[in-house]
Amino acid sequence: MLLDLDRGSPPVRRVTVLLPYPFPRPFDYAVPEGLDPQPGDIVLVPLNRREETGVVWDSAPDETVPGHKLKPLIAIVDTPPMAEPLRRMVDWMAAYTLSPPGEVMAMALRVVRQLPGPTSGWRRASPLPDVRMTAARHKVLAVLAVHEPIAGPDLTRAAGVSAAVVRGMADHGLLVPALLPEIAPFGRPRVSDADVVLSPDQDGVAAALRAKVAARAFSVTLLDGVTGSGKTEVYLEAVAECLRQNRQALVLLPEIALSSQWLSRFERRFEVAPAVWHSDLGSRVRRITWRAVAEGRAPVVVGARSALFLPFPDLGLVIVDEEHETAFKQEDGVVYNARDMAVVRARFCAAPAVLVSATPSLETVANVEAGRYSRLHLPSRHAGAALPTIEAIDLRETPPERGRFLAPPLVAAVQQSLERGEQAMLFLNRRGYAPLTLCRTCGHRMQCPNCTAWLVEHRARRELQCHHCGHAVPIPIECPECKAPHSLTPVGPGVERITEEATQIFPDARILVMASDTMPGPDAAAEAARAIEAREVDLIIGTQIVAKGWHFPHLTLVGVVDADLGLAGGDLRASERTVQLLHQVAGRAGRAEAPGRVLLQTFSPEHPVMQALLRGNLEDFMASEAAQRRPGNWPPYGRLAALIVSADSAASADALARDLGQAAPSGEGIQVLGPAPAPLSILRGRHRRRLLLKTRRDVAVQPLLLAWLAKVKVPREGRVDVDVDPVSFL
Ligand code: ADP
Ligand code: ZN
Repeated sequence: MLLDLDRGSPPVRRVTVLLPYPFPRPFDYAVPEGLDPQPGDIVLVPLNRREETGVVWDSAPDETVPGHKLKPLIAIVDTPPMAEPLRRMVDWMAAYTLSPPGEVMAMALRVVRQLPGPTSGWRRASPLPDVRMTAARHKVLAVLAVHEPIAGPDLTRAAGVSAAVVRGMADHGLLVPALLPEIAPFGRPRVSDADVVLSPDQDGVAAALRAKVAARAFSVTLLDGVTGSGKTEVYLEAVAECLRQNRQALVLLPEIALSSQWLSRFERRFEVAPAVWHSDLGSRVRRITWRAVAEGRAPVVVGARSALFLPFPDLGLVIVDEEHETAFKQEDGVVYNARDMAVVRARFCAAPAVLVSATPSLETVANVEAGRYSRLHLPSRHAGAALPTIEAIDLRETPPERGRFLAPPLVAAVQQSLERGEQAMLFLNRRGYAPLTLCRTCGHRMQCPNCTAWLVEHRARRELQCHHCGHAVPIPIECPECKAPHSLTPVGPGVERITEEATQIFPDARILVMASDTMPGPDAAAEAARAIEAREVDLIIGTQIVAKGWHFPHLTLVGVVDADLGLAGGDLRASERTVQLLHQVAGRAGRAEAPGRVLLQTFSPEHPVMQALLRGNLEDFMASEAAQRRPGNWPPYGRLAALIVSADSAASADALARDLGQAAPSGEGIQVLGPAPAPLSILRGRHRRRLLLKTRRDVAVQPLLLAWLAKVKVPREGRVDVDVDPVSFL
């Protein structure tokens, strides 16, 4: 027995409690009489005169602190404990990403800490009384116009006003209380066989997936196959098997806001809706869902990255759809890749993980080749639908008319589709009207005052906007530099400008623009999908949003306005990503009986990326990518970690980057690149420098990074962010 002899006090039982803050380790607390906390219990503890919620952790208490100095635990919260597999994932992620464990755990605890929510909220009075209106009151009404009724805390947050504003509006009769809708209980999915008859290929793959689920053991499988080959159809059968096993299933989608079609498909198969999880859920739905998951009452969750941290008591399957998507990488706070963490989560739950894509990432392909992951393949489109034909339009030979961006062959093809009563799509991965605004008189370029970036014109809103920090100014009439009036000119196209051009060329076409700023939120996206399916739209013009898994049976033509766009910049994965994105966009065409056609506008049809797309030969392309990355130990054949230095001034950023450079690790299979100015060398007013640690695959980067960072003193105004397995190099 361990006795605490100082001051002759009786022995003190200790527990370690992990708090949701970036402290380096859990804290010890004394266990008062009558409580029996176990690892995983959610507890209230005192911290700096406040009460905090934390989780009893498994680590050994720090016996050097005398017992009488420990503060006592206050209470055990009446909520399901955090299960061991989730605690292990938190520890693993913290160690891998070099993040404080409490910061990782906070992502799993966020919901528990909220107080029980209201059951009633607010709606607008009708008719609205004639009382004084302020800007704040208008904001509140604007939120309610889109979303009503809504809980008070959600309303103040969305409108950016204080609770007093809402109270005042209620007092003046502008708002009336309204019951919040009950959220439907999460129904039991129908797990009997699907109505669709699977093709022999599909059936084989479905059986293999069902066997993995029934094995109730960890495994990772790549499910690949061309767009429209029935991957979703097949993995839903794996979900059904998981439910028959009485375990829960998690499906991660890269953009949950764009998943209306996926959700209706799920309902067709299972006759109930899944639980949905993402960061824009209202606080009430969020709490109800969290509890239902924790108590095992939500059989299937479909969600964004953050769904990985839900407290599943018995997770039996994790699916990552569109696994190649960079949207799975979280870039702020704890920097992690949800695709990889899904595999880790599955491992700690003894469950299979399935990574799904028509264009798998080279990382996943390399894991298959090394035998770490297995692969299931669907070779052809369902029901004999042919893959679209892909052709290049060489912009050097058939350029668009002066001041235009759509070349004659593309215009003619769109015209033909419209005449046949079919739908067409124009894709350009750039929001706004023009990416650059230039003065014709003095050459001045409109730049963001806070970032190394041009301001993007958004003509509909009459604004120039920075896409990095959100800075926005009205479009000036005169050049701020030389004062010449009406001399500022847009350079290059964004989707708004393509829309303007298309409206002139095809005046009778019903055009729909799909971009994150014109289509905010799931409701707008669902409405867009409905209108397209109902053939209320002839021509879709969109950014990368249009590449995402949509199934539009009447769409037969896809025109890529600038196929070369993603290749500039020299990013490690620029080619891979361009092939994936353009192949996905192309995959929207010809998904039903009528064959699809894809036209790529490019200045370099001979580029390997264009050649791979034109020949439909992605495997050879990926093999040549692999051959290029292997010799230099570039990922996935080596490891990368980035250090991003930032500071208030260029001088202190340089000094800190130099210190890091001098302390850089060295050795066999270890290389440090930089320091160098980041491509976004100023972001939100902070000066940024980058260093890149590149190692052989058999070198563990975390210990190197820890030792490296320990050698350098970071001044108060400076910061070093660590990004293990970086995806963005900006
Ligand atoms: P992927 O996920 O590979 O893009 P989907 O699963 O979305 O492919 O299938 C493409 C389309 O074909 C969907 O509308 C789907 O419902 C349909 N489909 C696929 N397989 C079958 C099948 N065996 N029977 C009927 N329809 C199918
Ligand atoms: Zn900016």
